[in-house]
Amino acid sequence: MSLSAPIRDIVIVGGGTAGWMTAAAFAQTLARSLGAGGSIRLVESDEIGIIGVGEATIPNIIEFNRAVGIPEDEFMRATRATFKLGIEFVNWGAVGDRYIHGFGTTGQRTGALPFHHFWLRQRKAGHAAPLGAYSLNVVAAEQARFAHGRPDMPGSPLADLAHAYHFDAGLYARYLRSFSEQRGVQRIEGRIAQVEQTADGDRAGHIAAVVLEDGTRIAGDFFIDCSGMRGLLLQQALEAGYEDWSHWLPCDRAIAVPCASVQPLTPYTRSTAHAAGWQWRIPLQHRIGNGHVYSSRFMDKEEAERILLGNLDGAQLAEPRHLSFRTGRAKRFWIKNCVGVGLSSGFLEPLESTSIHLIHMAIARILDFFPRAGFDDSDIDSYNELTALEFEKIRDFLILHYKLTTRDDSAFWSHCREMQVPASLQRRMALFQSNGRVFRDGAELFVENSWLQVMVGQGLEPRAYHPFADLLPEDEVQAFLDNVKDVVSRCAAALPGHADFIERYCAAKSG
Ligand SMILES: Cc1cc2nc3c(=O)[nH]c(=O)nc-3n(C[C@H](O)[C@H](O)[C@H](O)COP(=O)(O)OP(=O)(O)OC[C@H]3O[C@@H](n4cnc5c(N)ncnc54)[C@H](O)[C@@H]3O)c2cc1C
Repeated sequence: MSLSAPIRDIVIVGGGTAGWMTAAAFAQTLARSLGAGGSIRLVESDEIGIIGVGEATIPNIIEFNRAVGIPEDEFMRATRATFKLGIEFVNWGAVGDRYIHGFGTTGQRTGALPFHHFWLRQRKAGHAAPLGAYSLNVVAAEQARFAHGRPDMPGSPLADLAHAYHFDAGLYARYLRSFSEQRGVQRIEGRIAQVEQTADGDRAGHIAAVVLEDGTRIAGDFFIDCSGMRGLLLQQALEAGYEDWSHWLPCDRAIAVPCASVQPLTPYTRSTAHAAGWQWRIPLQHRIGNGHVYSSRFMDKEEAERILLGNLDGAQLAEPRHLSFRTGRAKRFWIKNCVGVGLSSGFLEPLESTSIHLIHMAIARILDFFPRAGFDDSDIDSYNELTALEFEKIRDFLILHYKLTTRDDSAFWSHCREMQVPASLQRRMALFQSNGRVFRDGAELFVENSWLQVMVGQGLEPRAYHPFADLLPEDEVQAFLDNVKDVVSRCAAALPGHADFIERYCAAKSG
């Protein structure tokens, strides 16, 4: 292809969540612009398989499914999904502590002032309930209730009720594969043995083709590297380099194991901190996904496995799987005619379920910067800058969870408590600590309510609050808080149970 020719043939390398999400989105949005004779092909190896974890999401996945045209009930049935209203954090700030980081909103904004300043005022006076009592997402999660949010009912707490999903990662890839193949994506089975790069000319260094073990050569104009942590194209062929963040995000191992379901069917992920990491619990329709994410510097794998298996709610359903990772990101995400999507582009650990979101954002950004003809350096540079920024903001939010602890019961937690954090995070913590201020930084993923819930939930105590919160008489502020809490509580009590909702709306056929 000449540098000024339009992109016609796209090759996606890898068929995990990243590969098939990319294929589905491209099939839906790009097929026409590639023109007759254009192609979207996906190469994957059954022998290598997919990572098979990655089962909790955040609400933005709804936008992805909607944009691609995937009906929610069908998707949930196919992937045996449940609803997720937030994440419960147990033993993080201190052993015995628990709080829920709920999606949606907390309280109600009045005039110019965010709700939490009134809450901080009344809490100092000893008259406020825990922050979660003012959030419908949190109260509904605690009571295992669920309904869809009602943005068409402004003023009601239901307007801001937000959800995401827990789903089976293997079934999701299978569902997206069938969806994509029906829309013209061609799947090629085989193990890639060689990556061919153009030797000279204006395309020097570009990926020309991938070659399978049986000699099949798959050439393309534009390559999307979804090969997982191997980073077959981006890291191995194009040597993108890796920015290692393990000094801030110290966990580097995980063990995953499913267990039998138990009642109630909770509409939230649970993250329980242990001595050198934390354990996830993700309830699906047919099983509970569990995993122990830990730091190999502070715990060996036998001990980590013993802790995981000792903390399952139901009968163990399979042998534990051990995984290794290194937190960080690729130094460049897009090089020449290749973009990394998914684990090939970096991994920030699963604490806030952000990886699938990063896949979604990468796909949306590739479409925003889709090359018209050839590859423009300014496009590529902007793509790389925006993606790096996105990773960094999420990184800070994750580090916050480790840093904000008073735990001193293990070397791991002492290390986390004492570690130096990025200056950008230090500033945010100081801002909250002085006058309870919290701001979303530009278009970053996590909104004020997320930062607030984690900072409060893990014990970061502001010295003061916004002075405007003192302008109203105390009894008025108290009545306002009591009213919000009462409305949230009545609204939650009127919602159906999560299990009943699933049964009526999207229960998978058993088997
Ligand atoms: C412990 C853990 C927990 C996680 N939990 C969450 C979570 O709760 N929420 C979330 O959003 N994310 C989570 N993630 C991340 C999530 O799993 C991934 O982002 C997601 O699965 C995407 O993976 P992938 O498609 O990039 O890679 P993979 O699933 O590894 O797919 C790689 C693909 O490349 C193919 N491939 C590789 N080499 C070759 C070759 N030589 N030839 C041919 N094909 C090849 C493989 O066959 C496979 O199809 C978690 C990750 C880990 C490690």
